[in-house]
Amino acid sequence: MNDYSCNRCKKNFSRKWNALRHNEQIHHGLAIIFNKKTGALFKNSDGSNNGAGEPYGPEGDEPVILDIFGRLIQPFEELEKALSDVQQIERTNYLSNIIIGALSSSDPVKSIQNTLNLVIRYKVK
Ligand SMILES: [Zn+2]
Repeated sequence: MNDYSCNRCKKNFSRKWNALRHNEQIHHGLAIIFNKKTGALFKNSDGSNNGAGEPYGPEGDEPVILDIFGRLIQPFEELEKALSDVQQIERTNYLSNIIIGALSSSDPVKSIQNTLNLVIRYKVK
């Protein structure tokens, strides 16, 4: 029943808002909540505060996180391309698992690169 999970501490929740509140309170909104059934990802930024305001102050460790995300984009896009012949639901599921796995590892960029290399290797039969 606990379909929602926190990628930081692997805690499970039955309701999305519960999980998002947990993320806000425990991880300052930096964790990613995901639905284990659908693979859908939720971040606290999708609240009702119109998204225009800066969610974080100029100080803090955001730049590091943003930097990691920035470096994840390219291998992730390649991965998406490599999986383009996979059914969309399956692909979304797979990709979100990869992202979650990468983010919980000590080196997300390397982790996603490794996955990309594996996918490409298996594709070439
Ligand atoms: Zn958590």
